[in-house]
Amino acid sequence: MKIVLASNNRGKLAELQAMLAPLGVELVRQADLGVGEAEEPHCTFVENALAKARFAAEHTGLPALADDAGLCVHAFGGLPGVQTAYYATQFGYDKGDDTNVRALLEQMQGIADRRAAMVSTLVAVRSPQDPEPLIAVGRVKGEIATERRGSGGFGFDPVMFIPEFGKTFAELPTEVKNAHSHRGRAAQQMLALMREHWLSK
Ligand code: IMP
Repeated sequence: MKIVLASNNRGKLAELQAMLAPLGVELVRQADLGVGEAEEPHCTFVENALAKARFAAEHTGLPALADDAGLCVHAFGGLPGVQTAYYATQFGYDKGDDTNVRALLEQMQGIADRRAAMVSTLVAVRSPQDPEPLIAVGRVKGEIATERRGSGGFGFDPVMFIPEFGKTFAELPTEVKNAHSHRGRAAQQMLALMREHWLSK
């Protein structure tokens, strides 16, 4: 089964392709089929992922898979959420991982409640009109550290402290992080959903 991935990120393609391999699914990037980027106008991960999956299905005629991910900070009512990638720009910094971490540490100064989660939402549709999209949510709970620790990973990994390991994501070996990441958890759920709803007889 061929599925279009509504993302042009090669890292995501490789990671999701590996995770969905047991289903015999072939993932193709939308850019490789001449499809541009969809709008992401919504305030929730699931709505944006659905919008992206629908757009890709509409423009290719294939089933489509999309993701939307970000950081949800408890003390900020779950924000920055869908705006995570642009978080730093709200405070006059350039867009980027380093500035995002700097802005977050500044905004959390003096805040005792450090609870946060990395969230990844995957949505799959068989067609643009699919009334029953498959929805998988992976979530990793942690605490925002008061300073950076570790050199691995990307994004907020240096300040994403995972109590279960007593380390930040950036201090964990890549395979340990990936096995416990929000993305990995969402992909495992999506694998089970596709198997049950799309592929079982
Ligand atoms: P994306 O939609 O997966 O590209 O990610 C949205 C935002 O969340 C970006 O700012 C990423 O840096 C951040 N992010 C996504 N996944 C991770 C992760 O595994 N660790 C830390 N930050 C992440």
